[in-house]
Amino acid sequence: MGYLEALEPVDGRRCFRLNSPVDGAEVHRFSVDTAADVEAKVARARAVQPAWAATPVKERARLMQRALALLVERSDAIAQELTLETGRASLDTLMIELFAVCDSMNYYSRRAAKVLRDRSVGLHLLRHKKAKLVARPLGVVVVISPWNGPFVLSMNPTIQAVLAGNAVIIKPSEVTPMAGLLAARLFADAGFPEGLVQVALGDGETGAALLGARVDKVSFTGSVATGRKVGEICGRNLVPCTLELGGKDAMIVCADANVERAAGGALFGGFMNAGQFCSAVERIYVHADVADAFTKAVVRMVGELELGRDLGPFISERQGPIVAEQVADAVSKGARVLVGGNLDRGYFQPTVVAGVDHRMALMTEETFGPVLPIQVVKSEEEAIRLANDNRYGLGASVWTRDTKRGEAIARRLQAGAVTVNETALTYGALELPFGGVKESGVGRVNGADGLLNFSQLLPIVTDRFGLSTEAVWYPYTPKKLEDLRKGLKILFGTVVRWFL
Ligand code: NAD
Repeated sequence: MGYLEALEPVDGRRCFRLNSPVDGAEVHRFSVDTAADVEAKVARARAVQPAWAATPVKERARLMQRALALLVERSDAIAQELTLETGRASLDTLMIELFAVCDSMNYYSRRAAKVLRDRSVGLHLLRHKKAKLVARPLGVVVVISPWNGPFVLSMNPTIQAVLAGNAVIIKPSEVTPMAGLLAARLFADAGFPEGLVQVALGDGETGAALLGARVDKVSFTGSVATGRKVGEICGRNLVPCTLELGGKDAMIVCADANVERAAGGALFGGFMNAGQFCSAVERIYVHADVADAFTKAVVRMVGELELGRDLGPFISERQGPIVAEQVADAVSKGARVLVGGNLDRGYFQPTVVAGVDHRMALMTEETFGPVLPIQVVKSEEEAIRLANDNRYGLGASVWTRDTKRGEAIARRLQAGAVTVNETALTYGALELPFGGVKESGVGRVNGADGLLNFSQLLPIVTDRFGLSTEAVWYPYTPKKLEDLRKGLKILFGTVVRWFL
């Protein structure tokens, strides 16, 4: 039985039954929003947004704090619903989804008023003008999210967009619709205006309908293939978008690494959420001097893991065969499975593969499962070269006792973020911009100015003195030309320029 089963359409809407990835029991039934439903939702969002934009930021933040209190109060029940839908380990749900969303609500609502307030800007040349920057909401924002972190990847952009004064329509993955419904319900129950945060259910067809409606920004998280389509449509419609796409994060273990810590980091970074994590450790380059000790430590630690408690099943049933095929391809080209390697009723055993190289898809393509392929290298230079030899560039990590050298290596890695002696925490550090280079995406989410990603920074320049004319306005007389010529020479050809 598939996780997602198509049912007979009702009232012209396609319907699905979602089954648990753990035991196949029915989790929900839902109908897909049609293009007309999507149009209606966008129109409703458009209607409520102006009043929300006029609501003081402090009031928006106060409501967000109320939503946070509700989320904390309901956290056990929500965690249970999210775990049911994904089948994942309960600790993963609590950490990746609940903890991260609570932090995002609190972090952004406590800073929104300061970040979004008008800012005076001193103009270095045009000192006789007054300038300010005003953060204006964009309007209607569409948040399209994937199934691997369905609640946090729906909520985190929505929290920022709403605080910045926008209306939001969330399009969760068809595999995890509950995450989107829970998000919209939370905003409604906390007292946000009706229709400010809505959810459109469905698959790619619903996503495409949203892109076709006249919206003002798209925040997309998902695969490279879909991200490309989304980017093409946004480009054609001249709609700003951020694309948070896949990754193939490299882990470099240097000769002086704390092997025990590196092995523990490899496990957590590679197996959290059963490896279904965009910035998971997906390929390891270990220096020959510590390769044996590191590999033994990893294999030992894997022996202590339990399916179900530590690792959930595949959240999307399509992933199982892809991961199994990547491991089989590596083995057919000479790799050795040291532990695990099998798909077992929807679960993939935590797997360590040695003897890998870049001829194998396991080392070049995204692996959305708990597999750690380990390649031995002779030098850090070789590790850096191999780490950069990939079409993705989301995250990377370096493991060394010499943190200065770790940072020097970090600067040379083609990645959106690098951790030293750490893993899997850059999305959760809200002060830092998150996003990829190369095919891992375009634009950034989070960051100190995360709220400004959902705003237009409107410069307003006002004349201070109200004179009847300006030095360069018409008519263009010979005197004005001469003054400008002299002015250029004085301003930029003398010490005066040091004061500009
Ligand atoms: P996906 O691209 O298949 O789907 C993502 C979302 O896009 C879903 O909601 C889907 O219904 C929708 N969609 C599909 N076709 C569409 C279309 N034509 N127009 C508009 N929307 C469409 O991705 P997935 O399989 O759900 O998620 C896994 C992928 O997400 C992995 O590649 C993973 O690395 C990536 N991801 C990236 C990040 C990040 O922050 N960089 C975070 C999590 C996941």
